[in-house]
Amino acid sequence: MKNLQELRSDLDSGTLSSVELVQSYISTIEAENPSLNALVGTRFDRALEEAQQADEAIQKGDVGVLTGIPCILKDNLSMEGEVVTGSSRILEGYCPPYTATAVQKLLDAGAIVLGTANMDEFAMGSSNETSCYGQVRNPRDPARVPGGSSGGSAASVAASFAPFALGSDTGGSIRQPAAFCGVTGLKPSYGRVSRYGLFAYGSSLDQIGPITTNVDDAALVMDIISGVDEHDMTTVDLPLPHPSGSDIKGMKIGVPVEFMDTSKGLRPEVKTLLEAQLDRLASAGAEIVEIDLPILDHVISTYYLIANCEASSNLARYDGIRYGRRCESPDSLIQTFERSRGEGFGKEVQTRILLGTYALSAGYYDAYYKKADAIRSGMRQQLEERFEKVDLIVGPTTPDVAFKIGEMVDDPLAMYMQDLYTTFVNLVSCPAMSLPVGKVDGLPVGMQLVAPLFKEERLFRAGRAIEACRVEEI
Ligand code: GLN
Repeated sequence: MKNLQELRSDLDSGTLSSVELVQSYISTIEAENPSLNALVGTRFDRALEEAQQADEAIQKGDVGVLTGIPCILKDNLSMEGEVVTGSSRILEGYCPPYTATAVQKLLDAGAIVLGTANMDEFAMGSSNETSCYGQVRNPRDPARVPGGSSGGSAASVAASFAPFALGSDTGGSIRQPAAFCGVTGLKPSYGRVSRYGLFAYGSSLDQIGPITTNVDDAALVMDIISGVDEHDMTTVDLPLPHPSGSDIKGMKIGVPVEFMDTSKGLRPEVKTLLEAQLDRLASAGAEIVEIDLPILDHVISTYYLIANCEASSNLARYDGIRYGRRCESPDSLIQTFERSRGEGFGKEVQTRILLGTYALSAGYYDAYYKKADAIRSGMRQQLEERFEKVDLIVGPTTPDVAFKIGEMVDDPLAMYMQDLYTTFVNLVSCPAMSLPVGKVDGLPVGMQLVAPLFKEERLFRAGRAIEACRVEEI
């Protein structure tokens, strides 16, 4: 598959028109989406009109970085005039009155949106099985899940529905599906990309990021979508250094022993593959250092507590009154709330709202939320200390390859353990990337690279080094 830079030069030189490019992706989507269910909304007619306009602009030399290049957006990114639902019944038919900053930046760069990608309801899940639109299938093996919550975005890129997609990541939702589908997924540093227009889940954890087929494209999309935004006061005005090169000579790569411990859930074959990749990085000049990071035992409980608390507060806005679904003929105001929310939210979302509300209630706040927040501070400190000694922290993205559809729906704890290696990254706000390094049982395995806050350029450099010496192509 061509990368974005190659598509840009083909479009600019006239060897390819945007209409041809868009049409070819539409054909693939029409052939494959009925079975994959990766897209829940499409805008093909508009996309083709925009492609026509892009071709005219290119002829006039009026070219942005992405002029005429298609993409796909997760179903929780606001785009004015389009239906965006968070894959929840409660937002059935909802058209946001404004566009998310990250989306607007893509549009300003000339990108053409082909459609919206299926996801776990309100980004809560690790398998894309909580969506009101039904299961997404993994293009690498349709009997398996694509991961979640950005399952539709990752599946779309893996199935060549578009050269890139945007996802969101609260505890691994970009990286885990990227790993399961054999593509590249980047969660930026907290504050790098504006969350304005992203449906809020855990506001202190959420970030929007790219899912691509390679590291260069991830860097290019990041360049476009990042930056300070007056609509999101947590965004920072820091340059994203222009990534270049793949030289990792002398780079210190820390590998936490706990992350490679098969008694904590990592599948031995995944470990073997990751070790083979680390050997190759060592041959390329990196220094592999064993470190300890004894946070693993607490990450799942800490993350799910904080995420659920924030979710219970954020999702209070769906009350059946201001927008979204309202139940039929309620008898009272209270009944409007109860029935609209009861009918509109799926089971997983309801569970999390209940758990979060409980943990935040008077008398329990100190025992749960405050404690989790203190552990979070400890984790930040631990990471800061490790990053004084190493440049990157590397390990598995997921304990195993993509699991079978239905395999974990009745076992929420087993499902939550899928996020064992990804959630701490959001808790400490660092940037991280998952990229495919090979296969186990014919299914993709992702390696996760974690960098210090705002040091995304290290991810790009090491990521390119991995691409140059990957154990096995996906
Ligand atoms: N699987 C995790 C959850 O369900 C992460 C989801 C996400 O990153 N949005 O909360």
